[in-house]
Amino acid sequence: MARVKEGKGRPTNCKGCNKRMSLKKWYYRDNFYFCSKRCWEKAKDKIKEEIQKLREEKNKAKKEQAEKEAQLKAKTENTEQANVEEKKQE
Ligand SMILES: [Zn+2]
Repeated sequence: MARVKEGKGRPTNCKGCNKRMSLKKWYYRDNFYFCSKRCWEKAKDKIKEEIQKLREEKNKAKKEQAEKEAQLKAKTENTEQANVEEKKQE
């Protein structure tokens, strides 16, 4: 079977019915592409868990990013405080 070259971010097959999609008309929802809104509505129960998992991963990544930023901020603040203390000692 000849494989269709997959480009990034370009829908190829419908997540619901796996039909090849026309490049002009497709329906994007929750990281998946569907040939039509109707197909998404039919498939959404089937892929509910997948969607949930993707959402959780996204949220986790967001949370981790926020924690990283908070840590970085705290580190900067600590450094600033350390500098102040150093100056006091002089
Ligand atoms: Zn479809």
